[in-house]
Amino acid sequence: MLPFVTDPVDRPALVFGDRSLSYRGLASAASRLAADLPAGGRVAVWAVPTPETCVAVTAAVLAGAAAVPLNPRSGERESAHVIGDSDPDLLLAPPGAEPPEALHGLPRIDVDVSPAPAVAPLVREVDDEATALIVYTSGTTGAPKGVPLSRRAIVSTLDALAEVWSWTADDVLVHALPLFHVHGLVLGVLGPLRRGGTLRHPGRFEVAAITEALSGGGTLLFGVPTMYHRLALAVDDDPALVEALAGARLLVSGSAALPRPDHDRLTAATGHRVIERYGMSETLMNTSVRPGDGSRPGGVGTPLPGVGLRLVEEDGTPMPPGDPEAVGEIQVRGPNLFDGYLNRPEATAEAMTSDGWFRTGDMAVREADGSVRIVGRKSTDLIKSAGYKIGAGEIENVLLAHPAVAEAAVTGEPDPDLGERVVAWVVPRGQAPSLAELSDLVAAELAPHKRPRRLRVVDSLPRNDMGKVLKRALGS
Ligand code: ATP
Ligand code: MG
Repeated sequence: MLPFVTDPVDRPALVFGDRSLSYRGLASAASRLAADLPAGGRVAVWAVPTPETCVAVTAAVLAGAAAVPLNPRSGERESAHVIGDSDPDLLLAPPGAEPPEALHGLPRIDVDVSPAPAVAPLVREVDDEATALIVYTSGTTGAPKGVPLSRRAIVSTLDALAEVWSWTADDVLVHALPLFHVHGLVLGVLGPLRRGGTLRHPGRFEVAAITEALSGGGTLLFGVPTMYHRLALAVDDDPALVEALAGARLLVSGSAALPRPDHDRLTAATGHRVIERYGMSETLMNTSVRPGDGSRPGGVGTPLPGVGLRLVEEDGTPMPPGDPEAVGEIQVRGPNLFDGYLNRPEATAEAMTSDGWFRTGDMAVREADGSVRIVGRKSTDLIKSAGYKIGAGEIENVLLAHPAVAEAAVTGEPDPDLGERVVAWVVPRGQAPSLAELSDLVAAELAPHKRPRRLRVVDSLPRNDMGKVLKRALGS
């Protein structure tokens, strides 16, 4: 699964600030640790953004144990939920880390990445269907759910991305993502390790740190929309950042929709179109815009090699592509799928069709060329008003283009006439805009039935650690 670790080369594998590990160093540290891990067992990993986390996950892969990455910013309750649900055999953490009490009952091994006499890489025979990781969903729509991912699913998604992004051992990936979700860990750590390339992680997201990591050789940048938003705000006054971004080969965004105004600003400044890809914990990656593809921003591209994707009506009938107004739920199937939720057979049964398609809960339209445009989540982003299905995302994009709007989220609330009415939540930049102004803007850009009927001005939007807006926390 990680060929350059089991047959190590003399290239930098991991660079976290001023700490780095070559493939030989990684293979040696991970093999030492792997010898102490239970094949077929589960190991919790205290997933701080450090080389120790990458060594711990690599050791679990070598040993054939399932790694359960834990969010190091979780409090007692969240940690207890994950530990109670995943029931790991032990905890791997960097020396000196102080995880919450909920983890104190677990036997602990401190991860040692210091240079030591080289150890022959440990290679246990492990079945492709064995669980390599149990990740928890981001908790955007409810309590995080445990998602077991097989080696087969991980390998298939990483190799499909390698094909469409021409991702090779020469690539130096830069990102500052957390290491306990699919984006930062599967794509962001296992991705470069599978290719034999390098990961440069500055530890935390800061514009200057991204600039520094990209200059001098970074070729790929991964980020969530809140990060690209901060870069988009900085480009006007920061020539070094512009040069660093322009010099990268690909800028890739995912985990949530990248608003149009950020796309436009970054393209104007750097000449790059930010590549959007769409995936989720349960399915890994489903679609990506192809580099060099001239289509307009806002779409998430076409299905990856090996991934089957269709839109279905509410009754499950598949819809033909080509009608830009026809909104349906995305279903996917392929080798990239998970193996059912951990300890949640009802949720698994609800999510899967009888013929093996996964119901993503994401709503989209499909262009004639097969590319997918997400309009939002079925549960929180689809507003049913006056017989129309309205996606929150396109209205949010229009609001964000208003100079007095810093952040925006759109929800629906019950309305006696319309069924639901559109509500705009806005974090103002300076003087707050009026409802009439925003409503006219939306009606002019989109259609009159999409106009917000109510404006809620707020100081900030509730977001999770991936920067996703928690619409369930927006009381009406
Ligand atoms: P939970 O399932 O716990 O409510 P979550 O769905 O946010 O949380 P993840 O599995 O981390 O947890 O995220 C997957 C979701 O993120 C997708 O279902 C989709 O709604 C959204 N997403 C990912 N990439 C994109 C993208 N490029 N554009 C729009 N939405 C995206
Ligand atoms: Mg989800």
